[in-house]
Amino acid sequence: MNRVRDDHPGAHPGGTARFTPDQRAIVFDCLAVAERCLEEFYRFSPREWFHYSYTLMTAGDLPDGFPPRPANVFGEIQKNPERPPAGGDADPNAGYTIVLFDGNILLHLSGHPDVSLRHLLLYILAHELVHIARFHHARPFDTPEIEKEDEERTVHAITGRVLARLGDDQLVRLADNYLSEEYSL
Ligand SMILES: [Zn+2]
Repeated sequence: MNRVRDDHPGAHPGGTARFTPDQRAIVFDCLAVAERCLEEFYRFSPREWFHYSYTLMTAGDLPDGFPPRPANVFGEIQKNPERPPAGGDADPNAGYTIVLFDGNILLHLSGHPDVSLRHLLLYILAHELVHIARFHHARPFDTPEIEKEDEERTVHAITGRVLARLGDDQLVRLADNYLSEEYSL
């Protein structure tokens, strides 16, 4: 994810394509699969805060004037200021929004025909959900900049273990390959 990182000079501009309705359906299908994996991994109960703590937007849902992200940014998490997380587990409405950058994801896939949309989405969404789970248990949203790289590596490692439960070798290989400074999610 890329919470506050600014575009660096020379960053490649992102793609401007949008998911089709069919692709959006795949997004929400993958979100449900990723959520189930997280639920099993962390042993969340079905009515626990986790399930109410986030929403998802794709680029078409973003308000006009939302600043574009460089091409290497697949997704990010925004904290909803109207619904700040409550302390402890009293309030399940933690209020995070996962934002996917359709154009950047589609641009990346067009250059990597060996990667399927479904696999890439599963990886991105599981990664973002691991961040959200950890905002509560391990690492708050406002982690100091200096600790973020460490946190990204930790989240990456957990994401691989979470997705391994699906028993899909191709997906596991993809999850291994995407630990790179090159991408932001
Ligand atoms: Zn991340």
